[in-house]
Amino acid sequence: MITTDTSIIWEKDGQSCWETKDETLYEFPQCWAVCPNCNGEGTTVNAAFDGMSLSEIDPSDADDFVENLRSGVYDVACAACEGRTTVKACDLSILSPDHLEEYETALFECRRDAAIREH
Ligand SMILES: [Zn+2]
Repeated sequence: MITTDTSIIWEKDGQSCWETKDETLYEFPQCWAVCPNCNGEGTTVNAAFDGMSLSEIDPSDADDFVENLRSGVYDVACAACEGRTTVKACDLSILSPDHLEEYETALFECRRDAAIREH
């Protein structure tokens, strides 16, 4: 099981580590995985245009805008992989089943807390 979500994994001496509640320290083997942010494209549409609707654009510019958008004029290097198309990932398969469950619970709680902070 490969994950690119390092929310609760920390780096120690170049190793990706995670410690369980019973203080078992795991060092995950690292590998490269297709970047989930840009799906391996290496570029993403500039966030400034994300969710922008055509009604916000002067109708006389709308055609140019759509044309440019399609041809990638507004694309920027992906923030997650910096254009490499792959990101560092961790192999979670070394976790015991119990610890994998604990890991997933911890990750869920981390995401939930982050979501609460955002609101
Ligand atoms: Zn990327």
